Amino acid sequence: MRHVLILGGTTEGRSLAEALLSGAPPGTSERPEGDVVYPLQVTSSLAGRVAQPVLPAGEVRVGGFGGADGLASWLREHHVDALIDATHPFAETMTANAALAAATCHVPLLRLRRPGWGPVPGDDWRPVASLAAAAEALAAGPWRRVFLSTGRTGLAVFAPLDGIRFLVRSVDPPEPPFPRQLDTVLDRGPFTLDGERELLRLYGIDVVVSKDSGGAATAPKLAAAREAGIPVVMVRRPAAPEGVETAASVAGALDWLRRTLTG
Ligand code: NAP
Repeated sequence: MRHVLILGGTTEGRSLAEALLSGAPPGTSERPEGDVVYPLQVTSSLAGRVAQPVLPAGEVRVGGFGGADGLASWLREHHVDALIDATHPFAETMTANAALAAATCHVPLLRLRRPGWGPVPGDDWRPVASLAAAAEALAAGPWRRVFLSTGRTGLAVFAPLDGIRFLVRSVDPPEPPFPRQLDTVLDRGPFTLDGERELLRLYGIDVVVSKDSGGAATAPKLAAAREAGIPVVMVRRPAAPEGVETAASVAGALDWLRRTLTG
């Protein structure tokens, strides 16, 4: 049986595991006739950041590998035939490690990365290069009530901004260092437009900080900000890894896998 390792922690990672194990492409329930890829052993890997993660179908391993060398050892020991890096677009270190390890072990690698959002008419986006640059933009701006929708990690760069009140939403509670004036909402996406409107209103938000993560689950905050005329400080996504084939959807990843395992 061929072994596929999915580096996950995303909706796409879970959908891919589900599609591979059911043998049916996403959105369908029928296994394509004459499909020669299946059956497969599918393992999903999670970093272990969230105390109670939504688990993908099939086998799951949790925790870091110990850098690119550790991942390379894991690929060899578990006889992995194909590696799919379905981590979040901002999981830069894992993506770099996956590229190195796959090259070292000559294991075919695909980066599955959903497209970014892109502004639409009515949006007032202020693009920045990093969370640190977002903190600088806030320090220089007129805003006093920030919805920091970037998760619970990376809050340290906002800690020195004393005159600003922050709202952070995350699955598990944030850990210090974080800003002194902090409200926390513990919640897990997907989020609705009504819910996002209410959140912005309730906390009197005058600016949103977001990563350009893409995807439908967290997009309603952008529509709510647009409607309310609230600017969004948008952190640009890191570049895709060089020399690594990339797919923008689960369907594209299934297609790559079919070609890779049968080619
Ligand atoms: P990161 O900074 O790129 O990675 C840091 C280290 O965490 C990696 O070197 C690796 O440790 C470990 N790691 C990351 N993803 C892993 C995985 N899927 N399986 C096993 N180990 C993993 O990663 P991150 O941005 O903290 O993201 C961690 C996880 O959260 C990922 O699964 C990602 O998909 C998910 N996530 C991230 C974001 C975000 O905004 N960054 C948002 C939503 C979900 P070793 O070096 O020891 O192998």
